[in-house]
Amino acid sequence: MPFEIVTTDPNTQARAGMLHTEHGSVPTPAYMPVATKGAVKTISVNELEQMGTNAIIANALHLYLRPGQENLRRVNGLHKFMRWEKTIFTDSGGFQIIRKKLNIKRSDDGLIFKDFFNGSTKHYTPELCMDVQKAIGSDVAMLLDDCPPFDATPQKVKEALQQTLQWAKRGIKHGRAIGIPQIFAIVQGGTDAALRLHCTEELEKLNPDGYGIGGLSIGEPKEVMIQTLTESNHILPPNKVRYLMGVGSAKEMLDAIELGVDFFDSTFPTQCARHGTIFTSLGRLNMKGLRLENDDRPLDENCNCETCQKYSRSYINHLLREHEMLGMRLTSIHNLSYILNLIRNARSSILNGKFSEFKRSILSTLD
Ligand SMILES: [Zn+2]
Repeated sequence: MPFEIVTTDPNTQARAGMLHTEHGSVPTPAYMPVATKGAVKTISVNELEQMGTNAIIANALHLYLRPGQENLRRVNGLHKFMRWEKTIFTDSGGFQIIRKKLNIKRSDDGLIFKDFFNGSTKHYTPELCMDVQKAIGSDVAMLLDDCPPFDATPQKVKEALQQTLQWAKRGIKHGRAIGIPQIFAIVQGGTDAALRLHCTEELEKLNPDGYGIGGLSIGEPKEVMIQTLTESNHILPPNKVRYLMGVGSAKEMLDAIELGVDFFDSTFPTQCARHGTIFTSLGRLNMKGLRLENDDRPLDENCNCETCQKYSRSYINHLLREHEMLGMRLTSIHNLSYILNLIRNARSSILNGKFSEFKRSILSTLD
């Protein structure tokens, strides 16, 4: 089995596991930095390794447009292209439907949109989506899904669910035929738990290697997201990976881990970092508007990251004010390190049977 559960927490549904891929094993729970176009913004592969990153996630739709399948095949895939030797997940691109400015239309046959770069019309079918992820060399590919916006009508949510199931059937058949190592299906159904249960049951018939939990964290209130997860997560097969897509804030990840989620990805930590919002062991530090000229402490005195070992708040504050790129790099290194550490520590606490205490201690720093 590519996924094994090492232990489950005695008091919650939290579990510690290990996902085995052709590019190494990923201890879970795990957070994946986002490399949409083949790079985690401002961060090098060496830095990702130093932080202890075991998996990243790229986006098939973006890489399909540029550099394109031909180029990806020519360089033998994204691992070689970006010099990353560990696990790569790829999102299918279905999520991009909700980005209205991209003006992506959907048909029974997939996504239809104008190439952002040259204006030509593209037909992105469930099969093509798998071909692209094969060219990328994804260790874990996601099936094409139809992600409705959070304020979609119940009818639209149902239609998107049906579309997701149709595309999933086609995608997994093709993906298996071309030998993609692991294929995850994406559960949709908005915030309607009954629809999500139905979607999960139908997807289960396709026997995917794991499940993406899609269509959440897209604008709905956080309590609604956790409520939906609470009502629908338990039906996911316990022996397969559960990956909550697009969630990356500390509290939401801990809430989701408590409900048995194994994987996360989000640009939230790096976006915050670039805007001067720093995650620390004592809570958030918003550098914007703060007078830090005389503050020579590190961003977080309890952090071992490269940024905190070397640089002061006063220096980083100066860099951010001057829009020096190094400032954004240093804060990104720190925020990613914070989140990766948090999830590593969450895993240790599950192994020690003390997840609830751990969660409480972290939440007390976030208030
Ligand atoms: Zn740090």
